[in-house]
Amino acid sequence: MRIVVCVKQVPAINEVSIDPETKRLKREGVESVMNPFDLYALEVALRMREQVGGSVIALSMGPKQAMRTVREAIAVGADSGVLLSDRAVAGSDTWATSYAIASTVRHLGNVDLVICGKQAVDGDTAQVGPGIAAHLRWPQVTYVSHVSAVSNTALTLARMHEEGSTVLEVTLPAVLTVVKGINQPRVPTLVSVLASRGADVPVLSAADIGADPERLGLNGSPTRVVKTGPPPPRAADTVILDGPARDAARRIVHELRMQSLV
Ligand SMILES: Cc1cc2nc3c(=O)[nH]c(=O)nc-3n(C[C@H](O)[C@H](O)[C@H](O)COP(=O)(O)OP(=O)(O)OC[C@H]3O[C@@H](n4cnc5c(N)ncnc54)[C@H](O)[C@@H]3O)c2cc1C
Repeated sequence: MRIVVCVKQVPAINEVSIDPETKRLKREGVESVMNPFDLYALEVALRMREQVGGSVIALSMGPKQAMRTVREAIAVGADSGVLLSDRAVAGSDTWATSYAIASTVRHLGNVDLVICGKQAVDGDTAQVGPGIAAHLRWPQVTYVSHVSAVSNTALTLARMHEEGSTVLEVTLPAVLTVVKGINQPRVPTLVSVLASRGADVPVLSAADIGADPERLGLNGSPTRVVKTGPPPPRAADTVILDGPARDAARRIVHELRMQSLV
């Protein structure tokens, strides 16, 4: 199976602030890391490769320094990597980003599966995975929390939602987004980190992937950020649960599920 894992370089989360003028994240001079959810996506891909064979390609779109994230994925176990880096993609919203990544997947050719993290911890939209599926016209399964069967033609998966989870089968090619906790990502060894530094990682331009320049960057982005601000503070209500402990425990679990899908 030929699997592409999308890995985004994001600012180390506790250091992010928003530029009041441009309404964009201030990324300059901020330490960057691989989006944490993408480590789980990578681990899913590596385990699938171990089961049915094939290869794992780490794909990132971003400035040249995103090369570090691609190499990190190779150190963890990806067979190869590719970086889409071009001024033409700067300023892309999630739709244009999805188009650019989908075009890169088409350019790579013979891809059976694209796996993304559930969301990026900076942009936080969770739209890019579904957007890639839409551009490729492939089926998608989001919030995947368990992989129970893998073959070269189909996967059996559980997807998480507010009420619990649903088990379903998807035929390939397909796009998945995965949640935290689906697995325990492996850590690279010193040897693999050193080897990843020498890996030959192609840097592709918009022209290389055959993308329409009108569909990239600000030109290709239908959304505009009008205003950003912190969410209103949450009321610190205290709820006292009386009755049998078993019922109280059920209500607590229900509340936690409603408040977070993680
Ligand atoms: C109008 C507008 C203008 C913007 N301008 C800029 C700008 O100038 N510069 C800028 O940096 N950002 C800009 N952004 C933000 C940018 O669109 C998002 O960071 C990007 O589209 C990804 O969205 P997200 O972070 O919400 O990812 P999500 O949809 O939350 O990510 C889900 C998953 O998709 C994959 N993924 C997402 N992005 C990438 C990527 N780049 N490479 C590989 N995999 C990826 C990862 O697997 C990730 O876990 C802009 C956004 C808008 C709306």
